[in-house]
Amino acid sequence: MAEKRDYYEVLGVDKNADADTLKKAYRQLAKKYHPDANPGDAAAAEKFKEINEAYAVLSDPEKRKQYDQFGHAAFEQGGMGGFNGFEGGFSSDMFDDLFGGIFGSRSRRPRSANEPMRGANTRASVNISFEEAVFGCEKELELNLRESCPTCGGNGAKPGTSPESCSRCGGTGRIIAQQQSIFGMMQTETTCPNCRGEGRIIKEKCSNCRGTGTIMRKQKIKVTIPAGIDNGMSVRVREKGEPGVNGGPRGDLMVQVNVSRHPLFQRDGVDLYSTVSIPFTKAALGGKVRVKTVDGEVEYEIKSGTQTDTRIRLRGKGVPSLRGGGRGDQYVTLVVQVPTRLSRDQKAALKAFAETMGEA
Ligand SMILES: [Zn+2]
Ligand SMILES: [Zn+2]
Repeated sequence: MAEKRDYYEVLGVDKNADADTLKKAYRQLAKKYHPDANPGDAAAAEKFKEINEAYAVLSDPEKRKQYDQFGHAAFEQGGMGGFNGFEGGFSSDMFDDLFGGIFGSRSRRPRSANEPMRGANTRASVNISFEEAVFGCEKELELNLRESCPTCGGNGAKPGTSPESCSRCGGTGRIIAQQQSIFGMMQTETTCPNCRGEGRIIKEKCSNCRGTGTIMRKQKIKVTIPAGIDNGMSVRVREKGEPGVNGGPRGDLMVQVNVSRHPLFQRDGVDLYSTVSIPFTKAALGGKVRVKTVDGEVEYEIKSGTQTDTRIRLRGKGVPSLRGGGRGDQYVTLVVQVPTRLSRDQKAALKAFAETMGEA
């Protein structure tokens, strides 16, 4: 193997370069030589490896100090740093951090079988009334939640026995195979078929959970539904989803809210719409009308000469905004009613009125 190049030289930076300069130089070079940008180019792949190695050392203050003091010797087997070389890979965390995943999920590191993992999110739904959506409410759901099995403590093995580490993969759950490719020897990782990625084998299964380590248990879960929620939105209940693995946290429960329709109010975002009938005499003369709102009835003074389909606005009688900032408004359409049945006296009075208007 050729003599290793100086890490500073590889990144093309000064020995006193600060973290920002290093990062910038690395970013530029890594983009240029990334295998995705240079398919089939073995020289670029080699270069990419070298850049990553240099940056992994220089971006770590401790390793950089050792490198400055001892050079490459610091990282050789048994060297000062105890840093066992660089097997042609690089820290994907560092890479994702720098590139924000622009190269897709390819740089994502496969999970190890023993790594704590957050449980999956689960879904449920709840029906609430129109008013409950406007003002918020608390609901109690009864759901079957997966829980760690109390008999085996969650390891799935019959009490008194314990799971054994998988001999095929050494407990990692993964099998690494060497492959010859145009880039040289490549490592591929697959899930261990012996333990199906679990890293352990249960010889005698717990009878309570049949070796799964979890059981289903009915639980009452309180869901706080915020004022202003709309039909179809979901409320997140933290850590009431699937249990985590290897001590990871539970997933969340997402509760979708179905809001029933209201006979009087239609909703559009934070605003409400309704219709109120007014007698034609009141439309002509003006006066007080009673309007139903979600807060109860209010009185509204209409002007004389109000035409049908006039829309009035009741400020703050709408729905609270979920993002704060107060309530929306209620828009009321006034529909002028013309009487369909008139008594003799009423007809006479209207005729007299029509004459004064020159309409008779
Ligand atoms: Zn069990
Ligand atoms: Zn295995």
